[in-house]
Amino acid sequence: MGTVFDIKEFAVHDGPGIRTTVFLKGCPLFCSWCHNPEGISSKPQVMCGSGGERIAGKEYTPEELAAILNGQAEVLRTNEGGVTFSGGEPLCQTKFVAEVIELLNNIHIVLDTCGYGSEEDFRLLAGKSDLVYFDLKLIDAKAHRHHTGAGNEPILHNLKILSTMAKPFIIRVPLIPQVTDTDRNLSAIASAIRNLQGLACVELLPYNKAAAGKYKSAGVEFRPTYEQWREVNINQSIFTDAGLKVRVVGQQKRKA
Ligand code: SF4
Repeated sequence: MGTVFDIKEFAVHDGPGIRTTVFLKGCPLFCSWCHNPEGISSKPQVMCGSGGERIAGKEYTPEELAAILNGQAEVLRTNEGGVTFSGGEPLCQTKFVAEVIELLNNIHIVLDTCGYGSEEDFRLLAGKSDLVYFDLKLIDAKAHRHHTGAGNEPILHNLKILSTMAKPFIIRVPLIPQVTDTDRNLSAIASAIRNLQGLACVELLPYNKAAAGKYKSAGVEFRPTYEQWREVNINQSIFTDAGLKVRVVGQQKRKA
């Protein structure tokens, strides 16, 4: 069984074409800017909003989820899209996600990951995907631990593994004011990725200022480690100067 907190149809920011995005429960990080706080716990939880209560998190067998996704396969293929596994963090439910992918009928797969997991799990899911969205937040390990609750060593290790897998990937950098968006951090990211095989481009994601609102309904304390209303530094030239393709992606994307 796997636990999913949302299945978003007709998604246009989670990979090529029109996609269905599956949001999986559970994340090993706790980024202070996360705008899916209901995705962090691995268990179903009650969300209290203005429209009343709802449960975030529903259990599926691999066969049940695959049947839903296969039912959309023709529409997804016609629109040059596919299925994106996001979260939360798909690597927290590796076995389940791998089983679902095995049951899908010729559907393009994107793995949207923070990269934090065992090498074995990462190799398995990246290997079954057509494209990987790899989030990279902070290169400094101490700062990473402070802002996300965990070190970045497994992430940087899996990034190196990814570059040996002959798999196209996109680096996604959430821009958090004076945390991830500093020229120093962006330069460190550019240096770390500039020679990686398979890198298609870098996407910069200005953070979602509305994130705070969801915490109350999820019953999670919102403790930002950044100044919420500060404008972000969008310095694309750091990447272009390093010979990398870069683009800025809007705030519609839900995972960061
Ligand atoms: S922002 Fe992404 S990696 Fe960070 S806690 Fe939220 S889901 Fe996990």
